[in-house]
Amino acid sequence: MQRAALFGGSGGGDAQMAAGDLGELLVPYMPTIRVPKSGDRVYKTECAFSYDSPDSEGGLYVCMNTFLGFGREHIERHYRKTGQCVYLHLKRHVIEKVPGASGGALPKRRNAKLFLDLETNSDLNSDDFEYEDEAKLVIFPDHYEIPLPNIEELPALVTIACDALLSAKSPYRKQDPDSWEEELQASKHAKTLVQLDNGVRIPPSGWKCSKCDLRENLWLNLTDGSVLCGKWFFDGSGGNGHAVEHYKETGYPLAVKLGTITPDGADVYSFDEEEPVLDPHIAKHLAHFGIDMLQMQVVGNP
Ligand SMILES: [Zn+2]
Repeated sequence: MQRAALFGGSGGGDAQMAAGDLGELLVPYMPTIRVPKSGDRVYKTECAFSYDSPDSEGGLYVCMNTFLGFGREHIERHYRKTGQCVYLHLKRHVIEKVPGASGGALPKRRNAKLFLDLETNSDLNSDDFEYEDEAKLVIFPDHYEIPLPNIEELPALVTIACDALLSAKSPYRKQDPDSWEEELQASKHAKTLVQLDNGVRIPPSGWKCSKCDLRENLWLNLTDGSVLCGKWFFDGSGGNGHAVEHYKETGYPLAVKLGTITPDGADVYSFDEEEPVLDPHIAKHLAHFGIDMLQMQVVGNP
């Protein structure tokens, strides 16, 4: 019961305003706050433009209208572009436990609360660390913060929306390979994908969109090896969309997100099917452009 951890807790909210004030404060923004419906994708584990996540120092802001996620470096731009003011801010605190009784500097903390649907860093997932998740509403441009839970003071719709966002499954959930595979279907293009013999070789790092300066959120088209920036789930609010543009010009249907490739697989998107897919032939498709999936592991674990 992850929700219970958040909304069933006692005295979690540091309410500084009298009941009703928060409701009033939120009135102008109510039309922009949506409750995710089934089928809506909630991007609460990764920034649309960077690798920021709730684990990052600045946490992750989830738009209460589009459910897109943004790290601290990108949230202001999204706000200015769209005028969307209300975000759910998610932050996972990693707390180093005091080793033994040798009197470390950090206090030992117990009863860590976890409610975010995040993969935990396996390097840190030991007895030495504890995690604590924090959620709050943030209203731009003043960064007004409303700690959650605050079920008594917030309008019911807002509470329901926060609740739904927190319990929504991440579309790019990776911590449980079984459920990842259950959710995804093999692309109908995987088996018959044509790959051009154009000599393109993709280096293991240092990628850049070949049409602009973006160096993050890059997608490798598995037909021609082009490296282009993403956009399609940005609701027109950002990104340059060169990858999907390229698809519209060429019809080359599959792309893999650079940076997600491991020996176990990679995040593959089908422009044609308009959703993340499985590519059972991913190893072969990557090898065509000089990428060795197993090598990607050797790099990470020398
Ligand atoms: Zn680009």
